[in-house]
Amino acid sequence: MIVMKFGGTSLGSAENIKDVSNIISSNLDKHPVVVVSAVGGVTDLLLESASQLENGKVDMDILREKHESIIRELDLDVNLIKELDELESLLQNNLGKQITLKVLDEIQSFGERLSSKIIAAYLQKQGVDAISFNAYDMGMQTDSTFGQAELLEGSYRDLHEHLSGFQGVAIVTGFLAKNEKGEITTLGRGGSDYTASIIGAALKAEEIQIWTDVNGVMSADPRIVENAHTIETLSFDEAAELAYFGAKVLHPKTIHPAIDHEIPVVVKNTMEPANIGTKILNNGGESKDIVKSISVKKNITVINIDSTKMLAAYGFLAKIFGLFDKHQIPVDMVATSEVSVSLTIDNEDHLEELLPELEEVAQVKVEKDMAIVIVVGEGMAKKIGKAAPIFDVLAENSVHIHMVSQGASEINIGLVVENVNAEKAVQVLHKHYFG
Ligand code: ASP
Repeated sequence: MIVMKFGGTSLGSAENIKDVSNIISSNLDKHPVVVVSAVGGVTDLLLESASQLENGKVDMDILREKHESIIRELDLDVNLIKELDELESLLQNNLGKQITLKVLDEIQSFGERLSSKIIAAYLQKQGVDAISFNAYDMGMQTDSTFGQAELLEGSYRDLHEHLSGFQGVAIVTGFLAKNEKGEITTLGRGGSDYTASIIGAALKAEEIQIWTDVNGVMSADPRIVENAHTIETLSFDEAAELAYFGAKVLHPKTIHPAIDHEIPVVVKNTMEPANIGTKILNNGGESKDIVKSISVKKNITVINIDSTKMLAAYGFLAKIFGLFDKHQIPVDMVATSEVSVSLTIDNEDHLEELLPELEEVAQVKVEKDMAIVIVVGEGMAKKIGKAAPIFDVLAENSVHIHMVSQGASEINIGLVVENVNAEKAVQVLHKHYFG
């Protein structure tokens, strides 16, 4: 059997839902369990409605119209989604109150509860034996960290028990679970991929397919490199490196259960089902390419910290990173010598508070409007001379490199360049590696 997960952009309209239903129907021989996100944009609309409550407003119009128009266009019965009324009373009951994370999760749950019902009903109309289920009724349990709940291990056993013998096509809500008290929780934004991965692991699926709106993971951003191509296979480590740098197709955490159980995860495009997409495997499979992808993250800030006190001293780095921790500023890339540290951040929210404290211990220089270009590929690990062409190619094209860093896994090389040179750097490196 396989798990097929469809994200919000694949479920944005009646037309999209028809396409999804065709994709499911043509895979019935593989006995799919289907995991769905909310209809595109609905989770944001639900959060928006929740935020209106404190101002004394219940705003359901857009949400109602979005779902009802899909139902009308699919020629389904509007009474199918009584949840809309349930949602309205939940909102009414919380009018003027301060919204807790617990209530917020309950409000958000309506997105997936509605979409799963619509898709199952449409499939039934097409003659497919499909039934919608709430994941929490099938055994998906978490702790009580509302908004970002942690899975309870028992879920694997319970999901297996409830779903493995099911003969028809189960359409299961992504993103949702319940805690031990039976209260609804969510797995964090984008959590439906995680649901798919957990269900795939519980059922020992042959494959987990993540259907989205792009042709898998690309060798570069196609808006920057015209002839960027879909990467056929990626290792989990390569996928994880890329996820942080623009290729936000999958969050590494979400595919862990699949990787731990050695189940391939395939990223495919609902608009172009014939495209083979990208397969992510534990070991990455065989590949002739040393480099798989060149990604970029623009608008980052470099902080250069110099201090001769650092030479042969201990505790200096701890002090510096302690200050970043104190001001809750995540650090992305780091390079260090004996007397200086360069690091990058992509969020300047607390920078003004941090700087005076850093300046008490070292000389600090801030460089704004920079970009990280990252070259990723397992073929680079332990390969002699892998970095040389990167520097040569950038020098030939007059791209000044401000900082260099290589991760411990040796599968990536990160370079900081100026924002204005970011696109050029990606283009010339892509040309060098892929032509
Ligand atoms: N609907 C949720 C979100 O928009 C979960 C998901 O789609 O994965 O984040």
